[in-house]
Amino acid sequence: MDTLHIIGGGLAGSEAAWQAAQAGIPVVIHEMRPKVETFAHKTGDLAEMVCSNSFRSDDSEQNAVGLLHWEMRQADGLIMRIADAHRLPAGGALAVDREAFSAAVTEAITAHPLIAVDHEEITALPDNGHWIIATGPLTSNTLGQAIQQETGTDRLAFFDAIAPIVYADTIDMSVAWAQSRYDKGETEEERKAYLNCPMNKDQYEVFIDALLAADKTEFHEGETAGYFDGCLPIEVMAERGRETLRHGPMKPVGLTNTHKPEEKAYAVVQLRRDNALGTLYNIVGFQTKMKYAAQTAVFKTIPGLENASFARLGGIHRNTFLNSPTLLDDRMRLRSRPNIRFAGQVTGVEGYVESAAMGLLAGRMAAAEIAGRDLPPPAPETATGALITHITGGAEAKTFQPMNVNFGLFPPVHGLKGGRRGRKDRYKAYTDRAKTLWTDWLDAQAVL
Ligand code: FAD
Repeated sequence: MDTLHIIGGGLAGSEAAWQAAQAGIPVVIHEMRPKVETFAHKTGDLAEMVCSNSFRSDDSEQNAVGLLHWEMRQADGLIMRIADAHRLPAGGALAVDREAFSAAVTEAITAHPLIAVDHEEITALPDNGHWIIATGPLTSNTLGQAIQQETGTDRLAFFDAIAPIVYADTIDMSVAWAQSRYDKGETEEERKAYLNCPMNKDQYEVFIDALLAADKTEFHEGETAGYFDGCLPIEVMAERGRETLRHGPMKPVGLTNTHKPEEKAYAVVQLRRDNALGTLYNIVGFQTKMKYAAQTAVFKTIPGLENASFARLGGIHRNTFLNSPTLLDDRMRLRSRPNIRFAGQVTGVEGYVESAAMGLLAGRMAAAEIAGRDLPPPAPETATGALITHITGGAEAKTFQPMNVNFGLFPPVHGLKGGRRGRKDRYKAYTDRAKTLWTDWLDAQAVL
């Protein structure tokens, strides 16, 4: 039986190794720590949680990340089993004792008769054999450069610049309107690529004051090396001058408010469609280091977004990630070198849970391939399937930024009430549907 090699023994690499080994495939994990360190990791353990100790909501009926927990538990996920064993009281969230958690993952992996761990940095792309690259947001520089050489420099980013993402059905379309800048007789569908929220002078001044006063987060020590000017946080742009945003991402030119064609907006906030389903829109140019509570407060002052719900809030972090929609196929293989899969945060998902889920999927897909089978991805109506569908095809490739799991990635359930009022029933319908389809996907593998 061929060996599966995994580069990176983080959340994704450990889960991938476990899944493949449980399917009878020999695995070698190549993990550079503790020989080579990162600015965030503190130990040489596998699956180290570098910051918060939370796996977020554990509610598998009303929350997309809780559903992802459920799916991984059903699939014999190592990360979830050990997280459950080291759970700390945290209400509806799944918080874990971080040191005990990584130590237990390390123990389970090293005790597995089919898994070996080699502590070495891999610096080049392997030519032959079955490989998974799961080197995470802090992929070592040499390997990052090797990946860039293969993919092109514009297809592997070293920082994310995440603008907030809004659920389309929570935007007030009696205030906002659909139109791209300087449109020239576009179709209705093309117009929906952009939504516009107008501001008068007073509203703009209030918005700038709120931006300047908002609480901000700092970069971690060592994180800012290479921080680039082309992607400044909006609050930094506002600090450079009160008019900067009005001449930048909020410029009102080339747009006519269809609700009030006679009124010229003083500034316009544009939202761009973020997924093929049209359920998510990102606020163009609004990458930010504001704290989450401040972001919600400031963005809700934008006309049309007073009742907006956010699928994710903005951020800027050191984060190595691929332009997966152009580079990976739906089996998570690099199109130009199909012997290499990618998994974890480097594929453009965000967070411990999402990264582990992508490890689970890559591990199973690689194991199936080594055993001479093809494993199709799970249905896009499941949480794992929604994520993989988004990163390998559903997301807009040109503006691709890391994504965490949320119901905006799921194909809508029809016939249910929209907006906030129908939310509880809608989310329950999403999770019921997902559970059935996930069980079908697992059952189909069990009979092989
Ligand atoms: P990792 O867990 O980072 O694992 C990748 C592994 O690959 C590492 O062990 C690394 O040492 C190894 N490696 C890298 N390059 C090589 C190489 N060339 N050869 C061999 N080994 C290599 N997520 C949250 O959910 N909550 C948070 O609060 C949070 N805070 C974060 C704070 C910071 C500063 C950072 C950087 C990330 C944070 N994240 C957070 C994201 C979280 O770290 C990732 O989602 C998760 O760890 C990704 O799992 P992974 O397995 O893809 O990568």
